[in-house]
Amino acid sequence: MKIVTVVGARPQFIKSAAISRAIRERNGFPNNFVSHLTEVIVHTGQHYDANMSDVFFKELDIPKPHYNLGIGDSTHGVMTGRMLEKIEEVLLNERPDWVLVYGDTNSTLAGALAAVKLHIPVAHVEAGLRSLNRKMPEEINRVLTDHVASVLFCPTHKAVQNLQMEGFKNILDPIRISNVERTPNFPLVVNVGDVMYDTALYYAPKSEQKSRILQKLNLKPNAYALTTVHRSENTDDRKRLKNIFEGISKVAKELDVVLPLHPRTREALERENLFEQVAQMLKLIDPLGYLDMIRLEKNAKLILTDSGGIQKEAFFYGVPCVTLRDETEWVELVDAGWNVLAGAHADRIGQAAKNMLSDWHPPAQISPYGHGDTAFKVLDVLCILESPN
Ligand code: UDP
Repeated sequence: MKIVTVVGARPQFIKSAAISRAIRERNGFPNNFVSHLTEVIVHTGQHYDANMSDVFFKELDIPKPHYNLGIGDSTHGVMTGRMLEKIEEVLLNERPDWVLVYGDTNSTLAGALAAVKLHIPVAHVEAGLRSLNRKMPEEINRVLTDHVASVLFCPTHKAVQNLQMEGFKNILDPIRISNVERTPNFPLVVNVGDVMYDTALYYAPKSEQKSRILQKLNLKPNAYALTTVHRSENTDDRKRLKNIFEGISKVAKELDVVLPLHPRTREALERENLFEQVAQMLKLIDPLGYLDMIRLEKNAKLILTDSGGIQKEAFFYGVPCVTLRDETEWVELVDAGWNVLAGAHADRIGQAAKNMLSDWHPPAQISPYGHGDTAFKVLDVLCILESPN
């Protein structure tokens, strides 16, 4: 069975690492359904800096992409259009059984659209997430991708519910592989858990062994906050950007705050003449590789972020999180008390951080993201659907 994987942005490398690894392991132990899995990786080039792309391939043992389309930053229309054209060429050449796309970037949408127009079935990993904020480019990408996919791999129960609200009926939840119809009436919705949890579990010990980031930055465990800001809704709106950094600066009065700076945010801070001010308040560093990043997350006293992935990683490592957005797709963490939504309001950010730093006790443990075997469940479903009746 041949799978074409389309990736292009940092979080997609991290998600796809889990499945690439599962493919390698599965090929070592052929099963009854499909004897060999071939993965062809297409990198669109959406993220291209060494520290936003190459480092993840190296650290997470992702095979070198077979195709690199070199389509870097541009407007949404230009980027998506160019990707669509190039991915179509690849698919005509490769003729895979499945196209696998991840998350919610322009690469996700272009991969899905190119495939479905050629009648190649699309599997969407991290399907069903909704912010219900249509101003987010990510929300448009995920809604459209879900509605052309043949198999929708949901990371949470909430994601399944979101899809049910949009009319999806063919739900398999919880997953019972043997019950998958071999020729289902597509589309099929399956709750498999979160591939990011697979990656987090697998690489946590490696990060402990290999990362020297705490020593390098002269940080003591549990004595600093970690922050990331990169969502366009925050970086492209001067008022939100200013308020967020005003909120973070309140935290920086109490303890060191480290910010691995996303290229888009650096550009926005420079454009808005805020860079020098922010550089004086916070420990600004370049974007990190995954092993250093999760070491910093694990040892932080508090995380403040607008990242989807980092909200969950904070929870994986038991660190309280303030989310710098008005809404989140990972509502179960807010409901359970692991995460507080503070929007782009300086006072709310400051207050939420203060509460979490002073009298925060870990809430009851929940396990909404599966058990770290999501990648194998994804492969099981694809293999069963592909196998002869
Ligand atoms: N990440 C990283 N280095 C950094 C910042 C983030 O390795 O400097 C990782 C982080 O641990 C998480 C993922 O990138 O696994 C999240 O990606 P991002 O915040 O870019 O996107 P989102 O999750 O919001 O889609």
